[in-house]
Amino acid sequence: MTGATLVWFRQDLRLKDNPALHAAVRTGRPVIPVYIWSPEEDGEWAPGAASRWWLHHSLEALARDLETRGSRLILARGKALAVLKKLATLTGATAVHWNRRYEPAAVKCSEQVAAGLGQTGIDTLECNGSLLSDPNQFRNKTGKPYQVFTAFKRGLLHVLDPGPAALTPQTLRKPRSWPQSAALKSLGLMPKINWYGALATHWTPGEHGAHQSLKAFLRKPVENYSNARNLPAVKGTSRLSPHLHFGEIGPRQIWHALGPRGRNSVFMSEIVWREFAYHLLHHFPHTTTQPMHAEFARFPWRRNARLLHAWQKGMTGIPMVDAGMRELWAMGWMHNRVRMVTASFLVKNLLIGWQEGARWFWDTLVDADLANNTLNWQWAAGCGADAAPYFRIFNPETQAKRFDPDGLYIHKWVPSQGQPKPVVDLKKSREAALDAYVTMRRAT
Ligand SMILES: Cc1cc2nc3c(=O)[nH]c(=O)nc-3n(C[C@H](O)[C@H](O)[C@H](O)COP(=O)(O)OP(=O)(O)OC[C@H]3O[C@@H](n4cnc5c(N)ncnc54)[C@H](O)[C@@H]3O)c2cc1C
Repeated sequence: MTGATLVWFRQDLRLKDNPALHAAVRTGRPVIPVYIWSPEEDGEWAPGAASRWWLHHSLEALARDLETRGSRLILARGKALAVLKKLATLTGATAVHWNRRYEPAAVKCSEQVAAGLGQTGIDTLECNGSLLSDPNQFRNKTGKPYQVFTAFKRGLLHVLDPGPAALTPQTLRKPRSWPQSAALKSLGLMPKINWYGALATHWTPGEHGAHQSLKAFLRKPVENYSNARNLPAVKGTSRLSPHLHFGEIGPRQIWHALGPRGRNSVFMSEIVWREFAYHLLHHFPHTTTQPMHAEFARFPWRRNARLLHAWQKGMTGIPMVDAGMRELWAMGWMHNRVRMVTASFLVKNLLIGWQEGARWFWDTLVDADLANNTLNWQWAAGCGADAAPYFRIFNPETQAKRFDPDGLYIHKWVPSQGQPKPVVDLKKSREAALDAYVTMRRAT
C-alpha cells in the first residue's frame, strides 16, 4: 500500500512521544494530521466551557508546531467515521492511526470508526498514548480489576516498563495535495461571553506550555512536593493537569523526566492515581453518574438550588470554601486540597449529591477529566473505590488553620469585607450528614 496515513488527533495534542503519529511517520508515507470536533459523540460529557477554551488554544499550538515541520492540521466538524471516510476518499489515504481514549462514549466512537473503516478496506491502528498501563491488560492476581489504590500501585510499579519516549519527528511527509480544513474559529470553541479573560494569564495551552510547566516544577527538588502540595497559598504542585488531560504531555515523558529517584516520589504516586482513575473508568464505566457502592443510590441527597448556587458562586460564607470556588472561577483550576474541602462541604454539609458537584467542575475546570473527576467526587462522597469513609467529614475551618495558617490563600480570593453569613452551621450540618448516613445504612 502506498497511500497516505490519516493521523486522527484526539486527547493527544502533541508531536513528541505520540505513538499513533510516530507509527505513521515510520511508514515513510505521507501523513495527514486531522482533528475532528464532534462533541455529540462525547454524549453527556461533551467538553465544558473551560475545556473548550483550552482546546481552542491547544489546537492553535498544535497547528503551529505542525507547520514548522512542513505539515498542517486539518480541522473538521462532524461525526468521526463520516469525516475520516470522506478524507480518505479525497486524499487516497489507506490507513488511519489514533491514540486510545477511555471515556465510555469515546470507546464506542472508536469501535464504530474501526469497524466502519475496516469495511471499506482502510487499515487502522489504535495505540496507547496517554497511560503507563493499559487497563485492558492490567489486572490483579485473580484476574479482576483493581479497586484498592495501594494494591494497584504496587502491581503497576512491579510490571512497569514504559520503554523510551520517542522524539518529535523533524519533518512529516506531505501528501500530494492537502484537503480543505475548517477554520479554527468556525468550530465555535471560544465562549460567546468573555468570562475567560484571566485564563490566558495563568496558562499556556499546548505542548510547549506543558514542557515549560514540567521544567518549572522540576527546578525544585521533587521531594519538596510532599509538603508543598498541601498548601494552597504556595505554588507547590506541577499544574500539569490540563496538559495531561489534553495529551500535550504523556505520563511516560514525566516518568523519564523524573529519573530513578523521582519514580518513588509522592509526585509519582499522584501520576499513578491518575492511572488508577482510568483503570476504574474503563472497568466500571457506570460510575460517571452512579455510585460505585450501590447502597449510596439510596442516600437521601437534598435538592436545594439556593445552596447549590451559593456553593457554585463562592458565596457560602465559609471562607476556605468560597476561596476555592472563586479560584476555580478565575483560573479554571483549583488546588487539590481545596477541591477536597469544597467537595466535602457540598456533599456532607449541604447534603447535595456529588453528581451536582462533578457537573459544575466539569464545566468550569480547564483540566476537567472524566476519569479523575469521577474518582475524586466519589472519593469525597465516600461512595467510590478506596474512598474516604463517609463519616470522615472535613471541617473547612480546621483545614484552613492547618493548610493556610497565615490566611494568605483565603485573603487572596475572599476580601475580608462584605462577605455573606454562613449558609449552614458546620456542627449541625455535620450531625445531619451523619444521621443521613445512618438512615441509608438502615435501609440497606
Ligand atoms: C473533587 C475533585 C475533583 C477533581 N477533578 C479533577 C479533574 O477533573 N481533572 C483532574 O485532572 N484532576 C482532578 N482532581 C484531582 C486533582 O485535584 C488535580 O489533578 C490536581 O489538583 C491538578 O493539579 P496539578 O497538576 O498541579 O497536580 P499535581 O499535584 O502536580 O499532580 C500531578 C498530576 O497527577 C494527577 N493527579 C494529582 N492528584 C490526583 C488525584 N487526586 N486523582 C487523580 N489524579 C491526580 C494529575 O494528572 C496531576 O496533574 C480532582 C480532585 C478532587 C478532590
